[in-house]
Amino acid sequence: MSVIALLAANLVALQGQALQLEQPAEPGLEAVTVHWQDRAVPFVRRADGWITIIGVDLDVETGEYAAELALRFADDRVETRTQPIEVRSKDYPTTELTVEPKYVQLSPENQERSARDSREIAAVYAELTPQAYWSEPFASPIPGVQGGRNFGHRRVFNGEPRAPHSGADLRAATGDDIRAANAGRVALAKDLFFSGNAVFIDHGLGVYTTYLHLSEILVEPGQMVGRGELIGRAGETGRVTGPHLHWGVRILDARVDPFSLLSLSSGTPQ
Ligand SMILES: [Zn+2]
Repeated sequence: MSVIALLAANLVALQGQALQLEQPAEPGLEAVTVHWQDRAVPFVRRADGWITIIGVDLDVETGEYAAELALRFADDRVETRTQPIEVRSKDYPTTELTVEPKYVQLSPENQERSARDSREIAAVYAELTPQAYWSEPFASPIPGVQGGRNFGHRRVFNGEPRAPHSGADLRAATGDDIRAANAGRVALAKDLFFSGNAVFIDHGLGVYTTYLHLSEILVEPGQMVGRGELIGRAGETGRVTGPHLHWGVRILDARVDPFSLLSLSSGTPQ
């Protein structure tokens, strides 16, 4: 039976990758939830079954993991099944830099501002919208640009490791159109200390995309956007050295390469 086949198969993911989970339709099946990295994520109904997306954070240790699926049936029966997931390593480059301390130390004011930004961002990511706003595959925010640089790049300043670069940098000129990677709800749209003009979109099921360093923001918090809708223009606001689009994806708390979302087939129409 197809269910057995699904559960017997080891899913393989690389560190820093999005992964789609699928559960075929079964008679009486009314809800599916997966427990992954201490969070419970719902599945949504698609034409031929149920799907959800989970993220394998770039710093998750390699090895065998078990995602626990809970299936609830019409007669209130709940069945638990295990989906094995093998996480394989992916090497991300590290650059060691020695710089004058004044270039890496923030003033108390800026420290406070960036801490405030971090709290606001953490509050956004803590929200898990239990539905999927999208029904088509994810797309590049700059149509035609199918790759970026620096995802997972680790930098060590004066011997102190910084958080790895959690998005991909896409080539763009100031003023270039930036489009929503998929349908969703604008969760945050404002100027942030490090990120400059930033747009965060909640796509549901814990999937967020972020668009940073914009010269212009063209959406407002709470606004629903469609796939490919114009949300801003590229720029070089925030702490950057030139115009580009920093495109990021968070899935619950996992930092994943945004381009790994594009290869998922979760767009199967509802
Ligand atoms: Zn970046």
